[in-house]
Amino acid sequence: MNTFSYIINGVHKTSNEIIEVNNPATGELIGKYYASTIEDVEEAIATAKSQQKIWGKLSQEERDQFILQIADAIGSNKSYLAEWITKEQGKPLNGPGAQFEMDACIGWTQVPASLQLSDEIVFEDNTRKDVLKRLPVGVVAAITPWNRPLMIAIWQIIPSIKMGNTVVIKPSEYTTIASLELFRIINDILPAGVLNVVTGDGKIGAHLTAHQDISKIMFTGSIATGRRIIEASTKNMARLTLECGGNDAGIVLPGTDMHQIAEGLFWGSFLNMGQTCAALKRLYVHEDDLDATVEALTTVTKNIKMGNGIEEDVFLSPLQNQMQYDKVNALLEQTKNNSNAKIIIPNPEIPTQGYFIPITLVTGVDHGDAIVDEEQFGPVLPIITYTTLEEAIRKANELEVGLGASVWGTDEHTLDSVAQQMEAGTVWINQHGAIHPFVPFGGVKQSGYGVEFGIEGLKAVTLPKIISYKK
Ligand code: NAD
Repeated sequence: MNTFSYIINGVHKTSNEIIEVNNPATGELIGKYYASTIEDVEEAIATAKSQQKIWGKLSQEERDQFILQIADAIGSNKSYLAEWITKEQGKPLNGPGAQFEMDACIGWTQVPASLQLSDEIVFEDNTRKDVLKRLPVGVVAAITPWNRPLMIAIWQIIPSIKMGNTVVIKPSEYTTIASLELFRIINDILPAGVLNVVTGDGKIGAHLTAHQDISKIMFTGSIATGRRIIEASTKNMARLTLECGGNDAGIVLPGTDMHQIAEGLFWGSFLNMGQTCAALKRLYVHEDDLDATVEALTTVTKNIKMGNGIEEDVFLSPLQNQMQYDKVNALLEQTKNNSNAKIIIPNPEIPTQGYFIPITLVTGVDHGDAIVDEEQFGPVLPIITYTTLEEAIRKANELEVGLGASVWGTDEHTLDSVAQQMEAGTVWINQHGAIHPFVPFGGVKQSGYGVEFGIEGLKAVTLPKIISYKK
């Protein structure tokens, strides 16, 4: 069985600590990896710092050539990497699963290479001209979560290296092998030291993010860790892009045909078993539409098979790890304390082994119930009824998070008006979680700072510098 290594300065490294990895669908041991040491973090940062001086001098066009080769290499290894995602992360190979994540990796690599962030004349008259240039920030510390391990790594790496930075990345300790295999493929193309990789848990992440030579931190993960990263950045004053958790609300306008939108609602909520930052995690429907909502979502659920994601016809899979499995089950247990709550399991046929939880709809709950107030990050959707749209909007905005949100229905004026009032980084209309590599994405409130993707995402990994000419 293979033990996977991490890469510093283009060299594959091993250590005395070996971590075993099991398949969340079967419990089977699938591989091992070496955990990095604090000395490795130091070496990775020192390498990245010296290499940045060379890499940062190339033009954007020269770096784009490397990035386009990376896109091709990911394409050639798509099936291999998708299989690793399925075995390690759990998501199905097919449907909106691991192959879909690999397509996203290719798209989010090609699009930044197609964009140009040029110098800008921000002021000019007959006395002066002021030009805004975009310089590399330096060494970027990148920290990924376990839910979309490869796609999120690409979101962090590609804009960073395009804009002349070098990177030290630490993948989630739960999804390290698939990540290491992607980083190996990228490293085969890049000059040594542009992308350095360290493995391990929060201790390694904490050392990396607090280091004096880190100038930018790109973090995707929980709000609790996001707060620790803000504290770490008080030491090095690193610039931050924080993509933290959410608890996205979706509002369905009264009288909407539920069968028309049920599939969109279903995948908006249960994509990756709800382990998606911008999944629909609270659904608000008019009190007269509750029965139709449950019926329509039940019909969709009954037609989708849950199982080991490596099987062709499986589109729903296990949760990724024991911690998340226990957390979702604990929230369901707590829900049972509310005598008004009704827990509906449309399709209870699930494998007996592995971290499987069936798709679950919960009615009769409201704000004040943990299943509504907390980000469940699992296959459970609370459906909350409202009497007036004003009440639905007020409740949707009540929490201290605002990553995505959605509004569903047919009346364009009302859809637009509700979208304007919902507090979130993105409000989707008649879809949810529909991110795109050209469209900036980020949260408001405690869901994070800054945006990724598109030109705005490129700006976020640069330092603005003004050259001011006297005429
Ligand atoms: P997590 O915060 O537990 O871990 C994320 C990463 O941070 C891991 O690599 C972990 O090792 C590292 N880490 C832990 N402690 C650290 C520290 N003190 N300093 C530096 N790094 C540290 O999150 P998770 O459980 O892996 O992911 C789930 C969460 O991520 C959910 O809340 C989800 O909403 C969020 N998420 C957000 C987005 C987004 O784009 N907004 C995308 C995906 C996931």
